[in-house]
Amino acid sequence: MSSDLVIVYHRQPYEEVEENGETVLREHKSPNGIVPTLKSFFGKVDHGSWVAWKLAKDANDPGWEPRIEVEDSFGSYSVSRLPLTQKQVHEFYHVSSKEAFWPILHSFKDRYNYDPVDWPNFREVNWRFAEAAAAEAAEGALVWVHDYNLWLVPGYLRQMRPDVKIAFFHHTPFPAPDMFNVLPWRKEIIESLMECDSVGFHIPRYATNFAAVVQSLMDVDIAKRERVPNDLIAEGTALTERRVPTVLSGPSRDVHLSVAPVGVDVDYIQARAAEESTKTKAEDILNDLGDRQLILSVGRTDYTKGGIEQLGSFERLLEDRPELRGKVQLMHVSVSANRGMAAYGEIQSAIEEAAGRINGRFGSLDWQPITLVSRAIPFKDLVSYYRAASVAWITPLADGMNLVAKEFIASRIDGDGALVLSEFAGAAVELGAAVATNPFSNRSMDVAIGQALDMSETERRDRMKSMQQAVRRYDLSSWGQSVEDLIPSKHRNAA
Ligand code: UDP
Repeated sequence: MSSDLVIVYHRQPYEEVEENGETVLREHKSPNGIVPTLKSFFGKVDHGSWVAWKLAKDANDPGWEPRIEVEDSFGSYSVSRLPLTQKQVHEFYHVSSKEAFWPILHSFKDRYNYDPVDWPNFREVNWRFAEAAAAEAAEGALVWVHDYNLWLVPGYLRQMRPDVKIAFFHHTPFPAPDMFNVLPWRKEIIESLMECDSVGFHIPRYATNFAAVVQSLMDVDIAKRERVPNDLIAEGTALTERRVPTVLSGPSRDVHLSVAPVGVDVDYIQARAAEESTKTKAEDILNDLGDRQLILSVGRTDYTKGGIEQLGSFERLLEDRPELRGKVQLMHVSVSANRGMAAYGEIQSAIEEAAGRINGRFGSLDWQPITLVSRAIPFKDLVSYYRAASVAWITPLADGMNLVAKEFIASRIDGDGALVLSEFAGAAVELGAAVATNPFSNRSMDVAIGQALDMSETERRDRMKSMQQAVRRYDLSSWGQSVEDLIPSKHRNAA
């Protein structure tokens, strides 16, 4: 059956687990996160498909069905699974995407690694994703492609299926031309994206950067520019823009640039926060802390997340303000998502070393200033920590959006809690009421954490109220709306 909506995302829409020697598909436990969010769009159409890769020993003879029908709480939909070998995955995902594109997208030129990129492999994998999407889509359907590792899909798909609508969403930042154009494949990537009907970004700055990159590589006009709504302007912060290009007239079509910050499911998180078990766990955490304030930092182990810089600031805080010793506790959750990649191993070691040094310098038998957590905390438990924390300290050097900051805000049904947020997280343009910090400045980092710890309850509550309104305004459904509008009406279901 052909589909009205085809979602092309590199991961499969469920977890594969081994049970009694057999592989079974299990729905993600928590409806929080990008995969369940994307699946919820299948409810808008009669039939949907998902295209992803799946590991195979032999790509020509994978030993499993490439196409399956799945039925879960989101309804029934097809999943088209591309067999990729370990080598293909390594080269397409770990090398091209993570070693070459990721550093450039986050403006880390010095981490960019060109040499090992196997571009023909990247093209081939993208071509196969495009073929699979072309095979799924009904006449005039919407194909929604996600993220930079599938940059070439729109161009290939357009050759195969001129009739379909193509939308693309970047979950990362999008850098300015001086940075993006470091990529030698820049023109090929941009030509592909200019075959989309819509290219989406979290915030106006990324769309502005994209338009500038396009104009640096092609003779394209900005056909329309709009004022940025006030609720996406955080006065004086690094990522704020006042006008944003919304239509580019490309060589073959008008390309709409959409700005839609990914949000969180506020109702779901609030319901988790209100559960008796969450409350009890938060109380236990607070009892264990006694008169200490909990500073909570949560993120993936990645050089973009600024973990080392943050630990440096915490060390200076304890150095400069001896009265805080024994009175604050930093829980630094740094979860490794790309084990086995050298760059991430190095960061992990550097974080462990810094935390060890700080605990050694200031700790005592009954107080360890830093609790380092390297394993992923289940979301349900995370909400208890969000509730118990005095301060959430989120200081990435670059971050497309940062959902942890939004989850923290949504969890605070008590209306209290301070957020220190890097100006270089996309979320900062919505969250003007956070304590903004510039993680490239020691002074700014040190002042911000001090300010959050010293803040009066009245000020904390005022800021939290305003941040909660912002998180509600750009919640998950508002993000979805931006794409729903693209589904051609004949492909929407009657409901
Ligand atoms: N997360 C989690 N357990 C952890 C650490 C993180 O469930 O121990 C989740 C967190 O709730 C959030 C996501 O991982 O939903 C991280 O998203 P974010 O946008 O902050 O960062 P990303 O990793 O996508 O750059």
